[in-house]
Amino acid sequence: MSTTKTFLIDFQYFMPTKIIFQIESIKKLASLAINLGGKPCIVTGKQSSKINGALSYLLDRYSNAVVFDEVEENPTTDTCEKASQICKDNKCDWVIGVGGGSPVDVSKVVAGLANNDGPCEQYFGKDLFKKMPLPILAIPTTSGTGSEVTPYAVIVNRKANAKQTITDFKIFPIIALLDPSLTLTLPKNVTLSTCLDALSQSMEGIVSKKATPITDYLAVKSCKLISQWLPIVLDNPDDINARYWLLYASMLSGIVIAQTGTTLVHALGYYYTLNYRIPHGIANALFLIPMFKRNAKWLPEKVKTIVETIGGIFNDNDPEQSIANVLKYFFEKINFPYYSVYWGVSSDKLKMFSEDIYKDKYRFRNQYGIFTVEDLYKIFNESWNEMR
Ligand code: NAP
Repeated sequence: MSTTKTFLIDFQYFMPTKIIFQIESIKKLASLAINLGGKPCIVTGKQSSKINGALSYLLDRYSNAVVFDEVEENPTTDTCEKASQICKDNKCDWVIGVGGGSPVDVSKVVAGLANNDGPCEQYFGKDLFKKMPLPILAIPTTSGTGSEVTPYAVIVNRKANAKQTITDFKIFPIIALLDPSLTLTLPKNVTLSTCLDALSQSMEGIVSKKATPITDYLAVKSCKLISQWLPIVLDNPDDINARYWLLYASMLSGIVIAQTGTTLVHALGYYYTLNYRIPHGIANALFLIPMFKRNAKWLPEKVKTIVETIGGIFNDNDPEQSIANVLKYFFEKINFPYYSVYWGVSSDKLKMFSEDIYKDKYRFRNQYGIFTVEDLYKIFNESWNEMR
């Protein structure tokens, strides 16, 4: 009797964050009995938590809180150190990260540096905090990164001019409070970018070398929900059903990458973000077609699942074209220009990016396949404009 070929892999699964997922939960902090210590340090961005009301609800509930509201997009080591100094000077006992992935990531570093001597740079790597960080409450207000349920903080290392990651199981938030009503104020462009980040994370999780049966299950669900609800929310930004399912899908994508990590798509995207200020989710999405055409060669069964989940037809004789077709169809449906030439990228640096990433073996750790500099240059070119 023949059996279908499957991946029979050994795996572990660790996700210690308590999830509270509830519409308007930001208004119920007292009845939800959320309190992780004495004085909290609230870490947030410049505006959005004031616009969606999250900051004032937090200050009503925790009147002794200290606020750091200067986190920028793609936050830097300088910002992390400034925020952590404020936390330490005020002898805060716990940290609240509220906003998109940027403030949530900075809140994790603040929590870590409160109990471990700096500088921030010395913690890029894995499990380097010696002492337990302060407890963290994470409140995401974008549907994109899932940072509220991951052990990562992605920070721009000023000295290296690169986005680098602090990975430490000790910075998993203790509680993730997910309130879809906080995402109703997201502008269309941020909704698009952040949801594409979540889609990318889930797709990458499926083809990662660290994929597990649990993460595959969650990632497929996440892809399905994003392909279903993103087109709806772009036309109906006030649709709380759509906001609910997209925040849920984003959280699933975080649970996935907490186990699987991200793959080459994310590593390539960092070049566009750092050099052309292209939002993180858009930058990733610009590499989905070229990279998943390659993934289709190495992992056709997994890519078949993605194609069918997003609503496409998989042709066993042409896996590469099948994934390209369904992604193009989806991107056109959501009006996403999927070549980087339309996002202000010039072709003159692509060769340099290819040579740079080729040297950094860490970026390939979760990615199937072998890549030469020429392959990487071809991928950059396909992302820039397929016709080139
Ligand atoms: P973000 O950089 O946190 O925020 C993007 C923009 O959205 C900001 O202008 C922000 O305004 C605004 N915004 C946030 N919530 C809003 C709301 N509810 N209404 C209106 N505007 C809102 O975006 P992000 O995409 O969520 O995070 C990206 C960062 O996360 C990147 O640095 C990426 O590398 C990192 N990341 C981390 C992980 C992880 O596991 N740790 C995973 C993936 C990505 P304000 O600045 O005023 O708040």
